[in-house]
Amino acid sequence: MQGRFKSGASRSVLFGTVRAAVLTFLALAPAACASAGAKEAGAVTAKEMQTIDAEAAAQVEAYFGAPFSEQPKITIAENRAAFNAAFPPEWGMSETECWMVGVGVADFLVVLSPSAWAAEACEHDGSDRAEVKRIVAHELTHTYHGQRNPTRDFTGAESLSWFIEGLATSVAEPEIDGRRARVVAAFNKGTAPAKLEAVWSGDTRYQMAGLLVDYIDQKWGRKKIIELLPAVTQEDALKILGIGEDELLSDFRAWASAGAENK
Ligand SMILES: [Zn+2]
Repeated sequence: MQGRFKSGASRSVLFGTVRAAVLTFLALAPAACASAGAKEAGAVTAKEMQTIDAEAAAQVEAYFGAPFSEQPKITIAENRAAFNAAFPPEWGMSETECWMVGVGVADFLVVLSPSAWAAEACEHDGSDRAEVKRIVAHELTHTYHGQRNPTRDFTGAESLSWFIEGLATSVAEPEIDGRRARVVAAFNKGTAPAKLEAVWSGDTRYQMAGLLVDYIDQKWGRKKIIELLPAVTQEDALKILGIGEDELLSDFRAWASAGAENK
């Protein structure tokens, strides 16, 4: 569920009778990956995946107010082996964790077919259309971001993991109340991060990073989020925002807590 930058945390694959299907982006091509291997009853089908891809891409473009700058190659891998095989050899992704079901970078999106999630993934429900769409939108946000970032796949951008993952979370899951509640609960337990890097850590890392991007969006506006897309380091990002790390974190904590009280 992540861009390439976190070692191991950004890739996914399918297994078994390896058969990957490359779908043309938004072109709603025939269901090329609809065969081979046992299918999970009720799982999102290959044909539905084409519609979901298009919907998720539209969601990402609506957030940024501009289209993808290039068409990524989209692979819906039938099994974990095909999923793993879809990555560049230099990534060293011959094996992937069970929770990894999608990876997006500038050039491509690879998703493990939801029909394989029951047998070859964990923590995901392949019959839950909303969850599938959320995952595709998350990965496509990484793709959109990668197309506007000089690294293309976030290699070397580790200090901005909080922004990369927070952005994908914020775009894919526009409802912020749930993550605000979890983040404020974490603050109240005394686990407020003292450094930006710590935002992307622990059990609440997606919620914390997502809410921080929500905060930046509300305070500085969408235009500033777009200005942040080419940033590679935390220093770049803070310069673009014109704020120091400590001040950003303390303002964020105050904003998150005040918002929670107003609910
Ligand atoms: Zn991600």
